[in-house]
Amino acid sequence: MTDFTYAVGADGVAVITWDVPNKSMNVMSLEGFALLDTMIDTALADDAVKGVVITSGKKDFAGGMDLNVIAQMREGGAQAIFDGVMQMHAVLRKIERAGMDPKTLKGGKPIAAALPGTALGIGLELPLSTHRIFAAPNEKAKIGLPEIMVGIFPGAGGTTRLARKMGAMMAAPFLLEGKLSNPKAAKAAGIIDEVADDPVAAAKEWVLNAKDADLVKPWDAKGYKMPGGAPYHPAGFMTFVGASAMVHGKTMGVYPAAKALLSAVYEGALVPFDQALKIEARWFTNVLLNPSSSAMIRSLFINKEALEKGANRPKVGDETVKKVGILGAGMMGAGIAYVSASVGIEVVLIDNSQEAADRGKSYSTAILDKGISRKKMTEEKKAEVLSRITPTTDYAALDGCDLIVEAVFEDPTVKAEVTQRAEAIIPTDAIFATNTSTLPISMLAKASARPDQFIGIHFFSPVDKMLLVEIIKGAQTGDRAVAKALDFVRQIRKTPIVVNDARFFYANRCIIPYINEGIRMLAEGVNPTLIENAAKLVGMPLGPLQLVDETSIDLGVKIAKATKAAMGDAYPDEAVDEVLFWMADQGRMGKKADAGFYTYAGGKRGGLWDGLAAQYPEAETQPDLHEVQHRLLMVQVLEAVRAFEDGVLTDIREGDVGAILGWGFAPWSGGPFSWLDIIGAPRAADICDALTEKHGARFTTPALLRDIAAKGDGFYARFGGGQAAKAA
Ligand code: NAD
Repeated sequence: MTDFTYAVGADGVAVITWDVPNKSMNVMSLEGFALLDTMIDTALADDAVKGVVITSGKKDFAGGMDLNVIAQMREGGAQAIFDGVMQMHAVLRKIERAGMDPKTLKGGKPIAAALPGTALGIGLELPLSTHRIFAAPNEKAKIGLPEIMVGIFPGAGGTTRLARKMGAMMAAPFLLEGKLSNPKAAKAAGIIDEVADDPVAAAKEWVLNAKDADLVKPWDAKGYKMPGGAPYHPAGFMTFVGASAMVHGKTMGVYPAAKALLSAVYEGALVPFDQALKIEARWFTNVLLNPSSSAMIRSLFINKEALEKGANRPKVGDETVKKVGILGAGMMGAGIAYVSASVGIEVVLIDNSQEAADRGKSYSTAILDKGISRKKMTEEKKAEVLSRITPTTDYAALDGCDLIVEAVFEDPTVKAEVTQRAEAIIPTDAIFATNTSTLPISMLAKASARPDQFIGIHFFSPVDKMLLVEIIKGAQTGDRAVAKALDFVRQIRKTPIVVNDARFFYANRCIIPYINEGIRMLAEGVNPTLIENAAKLVGMPLGPLQLVDETSIDLGVKIAKATKAAMGDAYPDEAVDEVLFWMADQGRMGKKADAGFYTYAGGKRGGLWDGLAAQYPEAETQPDLHEVQHRLLMVQVLEAVRAFEDGVLTDIREGDVGAILGWGFAPWSGGPFSWLDIIGAPRAADICDALTEKHGARFTTPALLRDIAAKGDGFYARFGGGQAAKAA
């Protein structure tokens, strides 16, 4: 059994079929590439072969490069990566030239690609090297180059070929944003050539009728000019200046892959095609060796997938959810109903009044209607999703639910009451989950007759957009409840992390100190523009002040009051509260009130509010940018380390993936633990020591970090396989 098979038909067309054994999706390995190479050699050398069609034996063409191969290549160092990539270029270039005479461009054999479905990464770079790409009219298929999303860029000629095929401007969304298209859209954009019901038959027919000129790529023909203009053409100049500004604006210069990609396109456009491939290979090598790219691949691809596939799922039988009861049809309940019904789960949506329950369901209608207006949804599919949601006030409708998700007011008494009402109806083996964001799971479980079947499933808002779900085990939560929650999260296609019960669980525990540190600096007289820009320049999606505006000042006040009540004298955030309470007194409740740390007009954000300067005058000496950034990053990272030390977090992979997906922690870093490994524990400890001396005990170096620094170790070196810091 091999990754590719080769068969020549009676028509003289050699069909190379990609079908990796024991995998549902083809991925490219180095062995696979070598095999493909020998098959191309065979076809080109065999006079009986008139042309070649490359296709797949699966429902899709290919999902991309096996990222473990990339990890393997990295271990060999720069030369090994560069040589490996150049070898791939040689094979793909051989396909593209197809044995033609390089001078006359005649005598080549036509080679076409026939894609039954999804073609991603190398799965599109290979077709791009052929002479014509046919795809089946498969609405679900995704075609594109998503490499940038995991911190690398298309490095097997995709960058150079797409830029030359479409021009830098048109290729930008596909290369720089990893935009994926269905076959129809990919054809309209010019990425593929034809959509055909039977792509293999259409490709064969094309191969048998192709003329010499059909095989010559524009960039190999005489007089080729880059569409939209090369860099020194006036139009091209505008494109590249604009692209450079856009990339830096969007990435703030912290994503090495975006910069390298742009450099590869720009420099490649100045030289002949084969030179351009070499430049692409050099930049690709550069990116692959950058610690940010390895951290991003590890967190956003390898570990994210491992968590989704149940790396931390207890070994109990299948717990797929069939019917979910959602208590509370407010903002969260409505969102949870939508994501559940969308994947085929039957939903009972309960609220106090029929009107409130109906309003909850209409949230789904609104999202589905938006999908229809964007042509991403059909009326039939909409009707099907809506038919699964039953809005009601009648608890009896919960009969037969195998999972309950409670999302009523954040009030222990209300929560206790609905828990008991629901448990009186649901099957005795059903699992009861609460979506609380601040109340301890073990405390809420006291209202349950079956605390081992009681768990926290904490969604983030807006539910339909946020990718992370935090699963929280209470003191008595049993394995089956964890498995149920994990199976549910897999069904609704989100990424889970499993944590233990403690104040604010994991995500909110880390993000609140970030907000607080920003506010604290404001009170100290640090220029708020410096605070906000420092955060964005280090890759945080929102500055801390903007983030409070988004989540609202009153929520901040509420959390501060509750935390203070719980912590008593140990409460450390009086300085922060002074600012928060003052803002609340001014009626500046944030974005929803059209007034917060920023000014707003009709929800549209303007500049920072100038009233801040009068209340919190700017100090004469301002800290340097790095100090502000270290403060903002360290408060989050140290909280993550403490959560791991405490045993709230039991797997650093969850800590990293959860941080990026849950609150947008600087994705270039791969997450808080990856960031510590990138800068090294000794330097991290030095930064903490300096910050502690200047700003106080909240920056105290945790014992675990100190130990890792002393032993010359790293977090991933020690705990990368999912080992906990604290014995359970
Ligand atoms: P919400 O006020 O929008 O919705 C709560 C809903 O529960 C309301 O429609 C209310 O009528 C209903 N309700 C109240 N008592 C009920 C009862 N006895 N029976 C049935 N329905 C009842 O609140 P929300 O923002 O959706 O939050 C709900 C829960 O989710 C809270 O526990 C909150 O802490 C948590 N949460 C909120 C967010 C967020 O960003 N808003 C994020 C994560 C978790």
